[in-house]
Amino acid sequence: MSNKFPNLLEPLDLGFTKLKNRVLMGSMHTGLEEAPNGFQRMAEFFAARARGGAGLIVTGGIAPNDEGGAMPHMARLKTDEDVVNHKIIADAVHAEGGAILMQILHTGRYAFHPGAVSASAEKAPISPVTPNPLTEEGIWRTIEDFATCSKLAQKAGYDGVEVMGSEGYLLNQFIVTHTNKRDDDWGGVYENRIRFPLEIVRAIRAAVGENFILMFRLSMLDLIENGSTWDEVVILAKELEKAGATIINTGIGWHEARVPTIAHMVPRAGWTWATKRLMGEVSIPVIASNRINTAETAEEVLARGDADMVSLARPFLADADFVNKAANGQANLINACIGCNQACLDNIFSGQICSCLVNPLACHETELTIEAASTTRRIAVIGGGPAGLSYAATAAKRGHDVTLFESAARLGGQFNMARVIPGKSDYEETIKYYEAQLADLGVTINLGSRATVDQLAEGGFDEVILATGVTPRQLDLEGIDHPSVLSYIDVLQGGAEVGKSVAIMGAGGIGFDVAEFLVASEDHEENHAAFFKEWGVDTQSKTAGGLLPEGPQPAAPAREVYLLQRKASRPGASLGKTTGWIHRAQMKLSGVKTVSAVTYQKIDNDGLHILVGEESQVLAVDNVVICAGQEPQRELQAGLEEKGVKVTLIGGADVAAELDARRAIDQGIRLAAAV
Ligand code: NAP
Ligand code: SF4
Repeated sequence: MSNKFPNLLEPLDLGFTKLKNRVLMGSMHTGLEEAPNGFQRMAEFFAARARGGAGLIVTGGIAPNDEGGAMPHMARLKTDEDVVNHKIIADAVHAEGGAILMQILHTGRYAFHPGAVSASAEKAPISPVTPNPLTEEGIWRTIEDFATCSKLAQKAGYDGVEVMGSEGYLLNQFIVTHTNKRDDDWGGVYENRIRFPLEIVRAIRAAVGENFILMFRLSMLDLIENGSTWDEVVILAKELEKAGATIINTGIGWHEARVPTIAHMVPRAGWTWATKRLMGEVSIPVIASNRINTAETAEEVLARGDADMVSLARPFLADADFVNKAANGQANLINACIGCNQACLDNIFSGQICSCLVNPLACHETELTIEAASTTRRIAVIGGGPAGLSYAATAAKRGHDVTLFESAARLGGQFNMARVIPGKSDYEETIKYYEAQLADLGVTINLGSRATVDQLAEGGFDEVILATGVTPRQLDLEGIDHPSVLSYIDVLQGGAEVGKSVAIMGAGGIGFDVAEFLVASEDHEENHAAFFKEWGVDTQSKTAGGLLPEGPQPAAPAREVYLLQRKASRPGASLGKTTGWIHRAQMKLSGVKTVSAVTYQKIDNDGLHILVGEESQVLAVDNVVICAGQEPQRELQAGLEEKGVKVTLIGGADVAAELDARRAIDQGIRLAAAV
């Protein structure tokens, strides 16, 4: 066992039970809760994480009653019939030696149905529904529903429950004056506003007895106006302990908050300072969460005394074996979550089953499996970007003899550009993971070597996989060869000198990335202080809710940037569902001028000539950067086919349009799983 992570791997004694380490797999809604055969699929999903060493697991949110589900069809636990399903999960986790809690989530005003309830009839800015205020009777019925739900969870075999009291859900809606406008015994003074969560905890404890974990997820910072003050948070934590909570898990920010809390631009473990303030205020364990994505970061959080335990949620999508790898001296083989949200939260918010960009097996454990190959084949993979890497690693894992050719000096492909974008440095982790994994699997890697048709045709390969990626789209525009014109590759990888004013042609993912790169100063550092200042967070906890009264304080932009697109739609509309708003807000904060409905006319010494609608303009910029999409790079295909070699195109070489790493990695794994 590794001694590199002594704090992480230390058991946690809860008195009546002992957790085997300090790692909680935090709650995530995966969409399996409502899917056909979903409980069997969830059982395998959670069992894999228990097998992988997670000390404690929490399920996705399960509603205690009909009003509490986010949608009318959302999973709930109300009857003995529901217990049968939940037992499948609890049994599967216990069979692997794990422990699991069921999260009870009442969404309150975040529910998207007319039966939504809350403390008051205050509509959330992110929902079209105005909730019905709970009556006194409705409040007591809801308290009872939480207790019944917990009792049923106990019957199903769970080791405990987590009560969701943060992120702006129903309990939070009672706690703060922002949403609680009542003038009865459940509103007004703080003591009244916290009565509802406390009565829930008391009722649960009375229903389940002493030897059952009752974890409460408490909001450390609401990140909304008129949220809780720090003193109030401490009072509630102490009262929760008295009411019977076993553990305090922590949450940061309501869903409607306009501060990023988990996406890639949030510094690693960026919010644990808030949890640290609670340490010593209660005698039950306190858990820190958000963007703790490597074993080293998790260990540091615990070693600093910021928390008693760490909660990792998405990192368990990225790698089911996170804890075992840390324990077995293989932390370099952990596939780290890069905070992109592209296949997890973005999927959930578009009604799909959750998965993971860097690990497409996540939540697909029962249908996508990597089995040993019956016959070993010699496989050449040309291109070491995300598609080629995932293909090579999967094929090698299955026992195939894989040789990878990469013309650049390092593996990673487009991720080598992503990793230099401010806030995206974790993309480096994926490159490092594949470097370590391919070495571990014995893949032969030829770096800095451009494979030739003859070499491949005569190399005795059974399969040739072309993962040669993309080339930037060449535009047919007067002045495109002007010295002021650069491609995004020149800027991000070529070290091109860029002037003080820039027009970016193309406002897709790469256009936004390049804009963020260009407005950041050269000595830009991804540090905590700069992040909190930029987003207006009060790290001294002097304000109710944790927002600075003066608002966001972004650093002065290093350049004047125009971000242009031909479409008339809002720039950034194609960005991720749960991260697009952050990128658009960042553009605003940095003074980037986004312009839609542009017709490009020419580029000359005066700058970029455009029409916006009918109006002609000359943007007198020092440089024009082309971010206008890509074309497939397939230069080897014809030559190989002429020689009778069958090739398989994957990633951008297959389809370049709107290629993203998610599709590339997924395709690589699925094809290699079947070869
Ligand atoms: P993209 O998203 O397809 O955007 C390219 C942009 O160029 C389009 O928005 C298009 O807008 C413009 N364009 C296309 N043809 C043009 C032409 N002939 N002349 C002028 N403009 C033209 O491609 P990308 O930005 O290169 O990104 C590639 C992929 O990487 C995307 O699928 C994206 O998902 C992924 N990515 C995502 C992120 C992120 O989510 N943050 C970051 C980086 C990359 P108009 O036609 O309206 O001008
Ligand atoms: Fe993390 Fe992205 Fe995977 Fe979600 S999709 S778990 S954010 S790497």
